[in-house]
Amino acid sequence: MKKEEKKNDSDLMDKIVSLCKRRGFIFPGSEIYGGMANSWDYGPLGVELKNNVKQGWWKKFVHSRTDMVGIDAALIMNPKVWEASGHLKNFTDPLVECKKCHERFRADKISGDKCPACGGELTTAKQFNLMFKTFIGPAEESANVAYFRPETAQAMFVDFKQVAETSRKRIPFGIAQIGKAFRNEITPGNFIFRTREFEQMEIEYFIREKDWEKTFEYWHEEMYKWMGELGLKKEHLHDLEVPEKERAHYSKRTIDIEYDFPFGTDELYGLAYRTDFDLGNHAKSSGQSLEYLDPETQEKFIPHVIEPTFGVDRSVLAVLCESYNEEEAPTSEEGKTEPRVVLKFPKWLAPIKVAILPLSKKEELAKVARPIYEDLVKNFACEYDETQSIGKRYRRQDEIGTPYCVTVDFETLEDKAVTVRDRDTMKQERIKIEELINYLKKKLEE
Ligand code: ATP
Repeated sequence: MKKEEKKNDSDLMDKIVSLCKRRGFIFPGSEIYGGMANSWDYGPLGVELKNNVKQGWWKKFVHSRTDMVGIDAALIMNPKVWEASGHLKNFTDPLVECKKCHERFRADKISGDKCPACGGELTTAKQFNLMFKTFIGPAEESANVAYFRPETAQAMFVDFKQVAETSRKRIPFGIAQIGKAFRNEITPGNFIFRTREFEQMEIEYFIREKDWEKTFEYWHEEMYKWMGELGLKKEHLHDLEVPEKERAHYSKRTIDIEYDFPFGTDELYGLAYRTDFDLGNHAKSSGQSLEYLDPETQEKFIPHVIEPTFGVDRSVLAVLCESYNEEEAPTSEEGKTEPRVVLKFPKWLAPIKVAILPLSKKEELAKVARPIYEDLVKNFACEYDETQSIGKRYRRQDEIGTPYCVTVDFETLEDKAVTVRDRDTMKQERIKIEELINYLKKKLEE
């Protein structure tokens, strides 16, 4: 998609990438071998954050609804799927190459007709297929060629009949899936924004043709509600009505929902009206009927589809960008401040909810602090940390976005109470140990 001029804040992006590495959210993959271009691994905190996104999404769009069921399909499907879906023919991006430095670019992602790297002349665009090819079995023969899925969607179409029959859902209903997708992107980059291996959370919502416009509007609103839950500010989100000639081959209407990333405004999610293109083609190609029979009216038809699609990694990136804050925080010295970095995640997304911090490593404090940790960890993701000064430990918890720090000090031994510090306000409250769980439960639900 053609993008508007990008507003550049590479400094902020560098800070986020560096924080992610420093604190173990996300780091370059295969680093001990010099890394592997554009491959990223989620570390201990990153996997928690990503899982929270996925679990929150599943809870909202699958568990909390009576009109949705989930599947988890194979990554490598019968290659005929990709013929029927049109991906082998049409899932392409326009590629240009610089005649001077031989760097390659996606023609629709650059402005002007010169090489962005060296100013050289560019070749005319040719269509490059993004499908990731692989071979099944020991012989690398063309008969064994298969593809990693470039979207999770197709399994929802191919399995439509099975799911409709076994779940006994009536139209309108949806099938949801979370999983990996692979695309041989021409120019991956911008950290986890565009990689060749990524995760999607997708819904195929099956409807009668006449209902497509109102269902499209409905899902548009649902997507905005979800982005609100991720803490993304409305003013950072923009709809791009995709013009016909730029739409995917299967779509009659597409809105790209864009987010103001530090490197520019670009696609976060997509909403498409896929008509009956996919089910229709799979029915033709497989020779199987994929019609839906309305049990009341006995009407038979191929359902139409509205598809809200959500990138997992782009969700994580948007949440990191939105949550990142630098501010001046008071020190223990009267009237003095120092800079602090804090990830103000919505509480439900925070990888660690509560940190238990005994003031010192002394055994008498550990004796009280350990049981508190063991009790709390049954309810929330917790961390126990007794190294370094308390100030440094607060800074670390701020940087990883932990909503509450519980400090056990020598007074605790007397008054059976602890200090609870709030990440955002930095206010501290003295809470009785016996009331701590209920206090934190309430606070974390706020
Ligand atoms: P783009 O225009 O950025 O290439 P697209 O329009 O091809 O994206 P879709 O086919 O709509 O993307 O994919 C659905 C969602 O999957 C996107 O909205 C995005 O969140 C995510 N996604 C797509 N490609 C990538 C990628 N290479 N890396 C990470 N996430 C991706």
